[in-house]
Amino acid sequence: MFTNKEAFKEAFVDRLVSSLGKPLEEASDADVYQVLGSLVRAQIGRNWADTNQKYKNGQEKQVYYFSMEFLIGRLLGNNLLNMGVLEMVRDGLADLGFRLQDIEEQEADAGLGNGGLGRLAACFLDSLASLQYAGHGCGIRYKYGLFEQKIVDGYQVELPDTWLQKDNVWEVRREDKSVDVRFWGRIETGKTGDRLTFEHKDYETVRAVAYDIPIIGADRRHVNTLRNWSAESILQPDRTRGLEAGTDYHKFLEYKRSVESISEFLYPDDSQYEGKLLRLKQQYFLCSAGLQSILRTFSKLNLPLSALPDKVALHINDTHPTLVIPELMRILMDDKGLEWDEAWSMTTRMVSYTNHTILSEALEKWPVNMVRELLPRVHMIIEEINARFCAQLLDRYPGDQNRISQMAIIYGDQVRMAHLAIVASHSVNGVAALHTDILRKREMKLFDEFYPHRFNNKTNGITHRRWLMHANPELASLITEAIGPRWIRHPQEMIGLIKLCEDASFQQKIGEIKRSNKLRLAEYIKNKHHTDVDPDSIFDVQVKRLHAYKRQLLNILHIIHLYNQIKASPGLDMVPRTFIFGAKAAPSYHLAKRIIKLINTVADIVQKDKDVNGKIRIFFLENYSVSLAEKIIPAADISEQISTASKEASGTGNMKFMMNGALTVGTLDGANVEMHEMVGDGNMFLFGLSAQQVMDYYQYGGYYARDMYNSDSRIKEVLEQLITPGPICCYHQDFENIYRSLLDNNDEFFVLKDFPGYVETHVEIDRAYRNRSEWLKKSIINIAHSGKFSSDNTISRYASEIWNIRPIPLV
Ligand SMILES: *Cc1c(COP(=O)(O)O)cnc(C)c1O
Repeated sequence: MFTNKEAFKEAFVDRLVSSLGKPLEEASDADVYQVLGSLVRAQIGRNWADTNQKYKNGQEKQVYYFSMEFLIGRLLGNNLLNMGVLEMVRDGLADLGFRLQDIEEQEADAGLGNGGLGRLAACFLDSLASLQYAGHGCGIRYKYGLFEQKIVDGYQVELPDTWLQKDNVWEVRREDKSVDVRFWGRIETGKTGDRLTFEHKDYETVRAVAYDIPIIGADRRHVNTLRNWSAESILQPDRTRGLEAGTDYHKFLEYKRSVESISEFLYPDDSQYEGKLLRLKQQYFLCSAGLQSILRTFSKLNLPLSALPDKVALHINDTHPTLVIPELMRILMDDKGLEWDEAWSMTTRMVSYTNHTILSEALEKWPVNMVRELLPRVHMIIEEINARFCAQLLDRYPGDQNRISQMAIIYGDQVRMAHLAIVASHSVNGVAALHTDILRKREMKLFDEFYPHRFNNKTNGITHRRWLMHANPELASLITEAIGPRWIRHPQEMIGLIKLCEDASFQQKIGEIKRSNKLRLAEYIKNKHHTDVDPDSIFDVQVKRLHAYKRQLLNILHIIHLYNQIKASPGLDMVPRTFIFGAKAAPSYHLAKRIIKLINTVADIVQKDKDVNGKIRIFFLENYSVSLAEKIIPAADISEQISTASKEASGTGNMKFMMNGALTVGTLDGANVEMHEMVGDGNMFLFGLSAQQVMDYYQYGGYYARDMYNSDSRIKEVLEQLITPGPICCYHQDFENIYRSLLDNNDEFFVLKDFPGYVETHVEIDRAYRNRSEWLKKSIINIAHSGKFSSDNTISRYASEIWNIRPIPLV
């Protein structure tokens, strides 16, 4: 069917006519998408089954990556790419009068994640399958993904993301894989022989139904599974007994609604702990359903239970799925009859944990009472884990009550999920060298001392297949033309481009590709904003979730300053800049929403002001998502990675930009540090406080934001514009809380402290851009080093250093 173009066209037209009952001439783009999607699904169905069979026959060790978020985005283009038929399908459709690009736009963008953490999980699935590992995703099939963002009068408005309204061609409902998850009720303790028994009574049952999505590897043979769980109601005979006639139905509806709410929506908070009961339900639902299903698969191997840790690895993406730990203990003891010590030894050999943040507002702490009521048996087990851990601590540090209370899993009336995850995992990793360092030396110092070999670093990565080959096919072709195709399998070989960094004709080609990507984005912006975009201006981009620590505020304050300079001297000599923003704010994050409003207000002012004369333009592109990122990033000249040092654990946006030839303006934070080590001072624009300086200020004080305000007239001017009647101010005192956060609350994220350095760096960028050849050279050097950040590289390290798995060739 997909062996050559003519065969593809024939199979495609045939399927279209037979499934839609209309001729090709009447088919819409949406029709073509549905038919092409189902054709691809059918094509890889055999490989999917073969992959599973191979794993089973070889009794291969399986990795299960538990994550509350998988930000997978659209799949059609990537699936065609990994199957090796993208070009052929594009040509075939063109023959039939369709543009693949338009067809891809028909697919809903699966936004089952908030940002970096969820996108990392998606990149990892792609690399696992492409490197031929037996590794699968375990997630939730949210009926509504991350909200759709609209900008109305400059304000963010949230709409539900109805991604399932169209049929999802990629998922398969697997009712035969359903399992039941139990909530509430009480535990009856009994005794059989000399063994304690625990019986769960009066619980509420929730059915978990599996929806499987095939994850197609780049060899097209390897097809792993992302299994997302959906919560459904069942008739519960024992619970309806004794109910009065007539009230049964009402009670059932109530129960049904409450059950279905479990997989209804994704919590829209990024790096922010949300202590809601429904969120805890979601977490346990994922963990329990996932584990039951994994153990069922394992039982088909007919191996002794003691072989489980050799056949299964469980990875938890941040602490959100930490309940796999007590849930696995529960199953091993209560259902499989193991003793505590045996169950504990198996659990700790199977579980590994990735820490994603040191922001204290993001650390999960569940109220003990909530856990006890919702999950009575799990609560007992957590209590026991804590008791045994504290006894161990007391043994090792007799009388050191202070240390024990700092390390305990349960403290006060809260369960500290990170502590539970560390204690029960054989590996705890941070996501960039700096982040892991901070974890080991500061935040989790006591744990690193107690478990000296447990902590390790795995710097994040991105799949070069989606973020380079699919998002920027012209650049990918040029790389292949320059150094041959081996880099596709071995992305670190992109380093071979270094020898071309001064080659004038190669530079020229790189420049032309960037320009054509900028033209494409300009067209997109023109469609949305009805404004022309100058493709010869510097495209200066900051796209990521909106967070105080990511400092979009620093960016927009600098733009206001630039505007002030232009107003003061309209003849100002500068390369025109197009500032591009994209960012969703959590709906309850008021400060973040005001920053969005500020960006849009300033965008409006510079747009209308004749004095600006095209020197600066600002566009806030609404609804930042994976598919929008794929359009924006290849067109960027400048990548803004300006978080307060020590706050961004890794960042992955920074890597996507680097791979697409943008130059980074950034702080020495997260993976920027590693980028800098590779490319050196001359190929990045660094500014700002170091992580050490920031942490010292937090610890010892000594920073007074008001000093910056008083001593720097640029800062004073910009800040006063936020609250003094004028073009920016004052509709509803929109920006007063921003002003207050900087001055009254002493600028927690050092925006003003880093402002002068940031201004200077942008002057340097303006100067550097004028030397086209030097700029392109820097760009090529960045691309050449970016292969190190392929998630293929990251995943090979997880595989050998944490999971102990090897590739499984399928012949
Ligand atoms: C990569 C990505 C992110 C993460 O970006 P950072 O700059 O690392 O915060 C967030 N959202 C989307 C849609 C992404 O593709």
